[in-house]
Amino acid sequence: AAKKDGRRRARTFDPSMLQVLEQRELLRRSLRVALQHGEFFIEYQPLVDRSLAITGFEALLRWRHPILGAISPVAFIPMAEADGLMSEIGQWVLEEACRQALTWPAHYTVAVNLSPAEFLTPGLTDRVSHTLDTVGLPAERLELEITETVLLERTINNLDALNTLNVLGIQISLDDFGTEYSSLSYLKNFPFDNIKVDKYFINDLPDDQKSQTIVRFVIAMAHGLGMRVTAEGVETAEQASWLQAEGCDRLQGYFLSPPLRAELIDEFIHRSLLTSETADDQAKS
Ligand code: C2E
Ligand code: MG
Ligand code: MG
Ligand code: MG
Repeated sequence: AAKKDGRRRARTFDPSMLQVLEQRELLRRSLRVALQHGEFFIEYQPLVDRSLAITGFEALLRWRHPILGAISPVAFIPMAEADGLMSEIGQWVLEEACRQALTWPAHYTVAVNLSPAEFLTPGLTDRVSHTLDTVGLPAERLELEITETVLLERTINNLDALNTLNVLGIQISLDDFGTEYSSLSYLKNFPFDNIKVDKYFINDLPDDQKSQTIVRFVIAMAHGLGMRVTAEGVETAEQASWLQAEGCDRLQGYFLSPPLRAELIDEFIHRSLLTSETADDQAKS
């Protein structure tokens, strides 16, 4: 134990550690004012169905720090959660994303991620339905993505919240499926509309036998339960064709498009409509 302590003490005096701590503190302080300073923006990544037609977009939060530049949500969201800032930031994302969705074709959906802290904040369902009313977006056009971590605690409350959202007509997606605790009991107890298979299982397709087996199984199980399946992180044409052939309902990933700034969405939609019309014409002739 003495040896262990010694090592720990030595690490405390490592100047590079100090720098890391200082940078963390700087980030933390910046995060508190980032919303007021207008440093957040949202990128939107298209989701497509089996015929590769757009069904909607997922809202992905971005933070551009004035000095440090772009900071990944994977780095700052846990920090915002720990400092109790995520509810306010999340509310901003929800409202902004719903407003943006109103500018898209009327059958497109917008998917918004909810972190565990946001999901567990009391009054979530009221806030969401109030936001939809204020913005004027039909509930059917909103999809909320939650991860399995959320479901570990306070099961009864969780179930209530999910059921209420579901009754409102909002779609609920289980994000990053297979990477966390993955107890299948969630699928029996919670009203999911959609399962998003994590890119970990998509990466090695179409060649890897184990990935094939797992993805086939998830698709069959989801369909048996009346849920749809979305593959995340589709990066190649080969992966896309394999997933289309296996009956995966929706695809998302760099092969289709990276996340795009809001101003680029119109052009993306226009281009994709042109491409599908050309494909239709070719099919007809
Ligand atoms: P997620 O919800 O699973 O989002 C998918 C992530 O995969 C995004 O990373 C996206 O840019 C990335 N991605 C998309 N296609 C590909 C691909 O083909 N290959 C690879 N390698 N990656 C791909 P991003 O934007 O860095 O977001 C990371 C995570 O941060 C999200 O994972 C989500 O959990 C969280 N997040 C992002 N925005 C929000 C938000 O507004 N609220 C909350 N609570 N969490 C958010
Ligand atoms: Mg997501
Ligand atoms: Mg995901
Ligand atoms: Mg993820």
